[in-house]
Amino acid sequence: MSLLIEHIGELVTNDPTRGDGSPLGLIRDAALVIEDGHVAWVGSTTSVPAADERIDAGGRTAIPGFVDSHSHLVFAGDRAAEFAARMAGAPYTGGGIRTTVAATRAASDTKLRTNVARLHREALSQGTTTIEIKSGYGLTVDDEVRSLRIAGEFTSETTFLGAHTVPAGSGADGWNADRYTELVCGEMLAAARPYARWIDVFCERGAFDEAQSRAVLTAGIKAGLLPRIHANQLTAGAGVQLAVELDCASADHCTHLSPADVEALAGSATVATLLPGAEFSTRSPYPDARALLDAGATVALATDCNPGSSYTSSMPFCLALAVREMTMTPAEALSSATAGGARALRRTDVGHLGIGARADIALLDAPSYLHLAYRPGVKLVSTVFVGGLLSKELLDGEPSS
Ligand SMILES: [Zn+2]
Repeated sequence: MSLLIEHIGELVTNDPTRGDGSPLGLIRDAALVIEDGHVAWVGSTTSVPAADERIDAGGRTAIPGFVDSHSHLVFAGDRAAEFAARMAGAPYTGGGIRTTVAATRAASDTKLRTNVARLHREALSQGTTTIEIKSGYGLTVDDEVRSLRIAGEFTSETTFLGAHTVPAGSGADGWNADRYTELVCGEMLAAARPYARWIDVFCERGAFDEAQSRAVLTAGIKAGLLPRIHANQLTAGAGVQLAVELDCASADHCTHLSPADVEALAGSATVATLLPGAEFSTRSPYPDARALLDAGATVALATDCNPGSSYTSSMPFCLALAVREMTMTPAEALSSATAGGARALRRTDVGHLGIGARADIALLDAPSYLHLAYRPGVKLVSTVFVGGLLSKELLDGEPSS
């Protein structure tokens, strides 16, 4: 079965050998053929091959589906009051994570699954076709495994983040970071391993220090997981250097970087994943995307969707922030939100629409991708294809299962 999408006003392929030869590989008045869920042909509408079915895009823009490489969707409760307090001047310390941990532990499987389904659907409706989902609000062996099991019902990109924060405790039985790190690296990792692709740690003052972060990541790698890290979010620290040393696929946040950190990222295969929704929602200074891009580092954009510091599932919103607040060009921002995200997940089948790519496509009610940043807050994504299939969720309103 082949499907032809024709009369695409502007097609972003992310294949520089196509179209205008720019990194976005733009083709005007384009068409695209999908076969067996993959891109089989791209070119001009004037010379399309035969196909079993046709869809008229009516001049809309087609982009690769967004790759959101950093989210925390498995949780219960919300922290709107904490957000309001922050907007009234209270600082963000990360301590509110424990509030979400308590609500998550108390929630039923059904409640957690329903929450993830709602957020997953929200993201999909805004063009996200690949999403990474972390655990990290359970912080017991059973609750971390449960979080990963539920995350795995929605994505293959599951991340074990038992080392999100040190759980609260009391008296002599209370946790300290070293004892909790031992649990994460031992029993918890062994139980989580079958349900996760990635290992992650929050390397930050007040969370896990350099030695504990190294212990978590090396234990994960030894168990067969791939490493990524929360690095340099609230303070300058060792996270980025550790990411490069351990060949992490991605160092996420990168808000407080030294020139040596920028240089290290630029000279490595570690992607710098920027999460501007977090700076927006905590009213903090944005990362220096220009320094990273100008040095030659690969940059990804992701939502960090979580109830505390960035409660948005919208990649277009993050893309607009990147352009307006971090002086990325609209082309750099779109590339980072698609191809960059794919590199942050070490994926070659998504994040582009070259021949052979998975046919993950978002159609925009706009004449150009430029409108994603030019028209912030406006829902431009009209249609989403995942693996060549028109997203049923968007058509019939049923949550995914
Ligand atoms: Zn995060």
